Amino acid sequence: MPYSDKYWQKEEILPRRELEEIQLKRLKWVAKHAYENVPFYRKAFKEKGVHPDDIRTLDDVARLPFTNKNHLIENYPFGLFAVPKDEIVRIHTSSGTTGKPKVVGYTARDLENWINLCARCLYMVGIRKKDVFQNMVSYTLFTGGLGFHYAAERIGAMVVPSGTGNTKRQIQFMLDFGTTAIHCTPSYALHIKEVAESMNIDPSEIGLRIGCFGAEPWSESLRRKLEDSFGLKAYDSYGLSEMNGPGVAFECEEQNGLHIWIDHYLVEVVDPESGEVLSEGEKGELVLTPLTKEALPLIRYRTGDITYIMDDECSCGRTHPKIHRILGRTDDMLIVRGINIFPSQIEHVLMKIPEVGDSYQIVLTKRGALDEMTVRVEVKDEFFTGELADLERLKKKIENALREELGIRVNVELVEKGTLERFEGKAKRILDLRR
Ligand code: ADP
Ligand code: ZN
Repeated sequence: MPYSDKYWQKEEILPRRELEEIQLKRLKWVAKHAYENVPFYRKAFKEKGVHPDDIRTLDDVARLPFTNKNHLIENYPFGLFAVPKDEIVRIHTSSGTTGKPKVVGYTARDLENWINLCARCLYMVGIRKKDVFQNMVSYTLFTGGLGFHYAAERIGAMVVPSGTGNTKRQIQFMLDFGTTAIHCTPSYALHIKEVAESMNIDPSEIGLRIGCFGAEPWSESLRRKLEDSFGLKAYDSYGLSEMNGPGVAFECEEQNGLHIWIDHYLVEVVDPESGEVLSEGEKGELVLTPLTKEALPLIRYRTGDITYIMDDECSCGRTHPKIHRILGRTDDMLIVRGINIFPSQIEHVLMKIPEVGDSYQIVLTKRGALDEMTVRVEVKDEFFTGELADLERLKKKIENALREELGIRVNVELVEKGTLERFEGKAKRILDLRR
């Protein structure tokens, strides 16, 4: 049962002071839980000369050791679990975007918490009982499928668990079932738009109202493109398997930053190099300590995701701070001729240019000692048939726009619509041929 018309749970609007009391109580619990039940943490705490009893205020979290992705991989599969195996009722894995998958586990209570966190998010953007929610992400080990599936069911929406693939059939389902809300990666949403158009269906006539897009970085100009084509409101959904999955942070109707649920996740942003804690507004790596996870407590987990905290009051009434949309992940930040570039910056430029189609690819090569970046850009059919001089002009226009945003020279190669790979899940748009 929802707490009110507007909020799924009352915790969403608790005064900050009360949230902090909850946080402190839970932080003490989770530190003790990890210390007592996970040998890895007992050792790590001792090495740092800290004991769970040393936590007296929330700031004391900074005394605790970090956990990183390698720690999970080194303890594959269940080495960091804090409960006996028979308490675990489900496992998932990360997508393995950047190497060996990490295995995560859930107790029955973990699942219950997670479902409610995901339900908070879907409810926040207006998904209700009357909605038809088509969930177009993988339903297997990836957390995005089952996570939102159970949440949408809990709200009482009609769930279409269509998973990924067979895009024409997905579109037919939307039309036949009266789908009003969808969940998928932003790159798959773009692909759906394209396929709908190839079927002579105007995406805006499908009847979608709400799009929940996440699992990969995307840009404001892609949001605009998706909203304009489908006639829906597009919301950014952030999560990671290590923190249960989706449902960690999500945009509200303001579409300006993602509320992060601090009664369940303690948030820090740190300098990725030094690990030093940064203050509100300073860009750095998001570090999360889940406060309620029984099966897999993780202390100060280095997400590798770059963002900053935006702690202004929000018009939606929720008292949880927001984080800026993820700018990129430390492990796919490109360093080209010494300049740091996130792929989403490139996307942001491309999606604003009307002649540009729905796909692009970033190719990195070396010429001598110098890095070369080439962006292969699909051009819409109607522009591709033009004069060679027009294409040359378009190429220059894109190159200039990219140089302005990135501060380095970029080669642009125009290709025909349909040349580049399409993605059903997380897009892989970078081809690094430098080594
Ligand atoms: P993997 O690290 O293998 O991709 P997950 O499937 O658990 O594992 O995905 C979590 C990661 O996906 C996050 O750490 C983040 O890098 C990325 N991600 C998830 N949601 C978003 C989002 N809304 N914006 C940007 N990146 C996101
Ligand atoms: Zn809000």
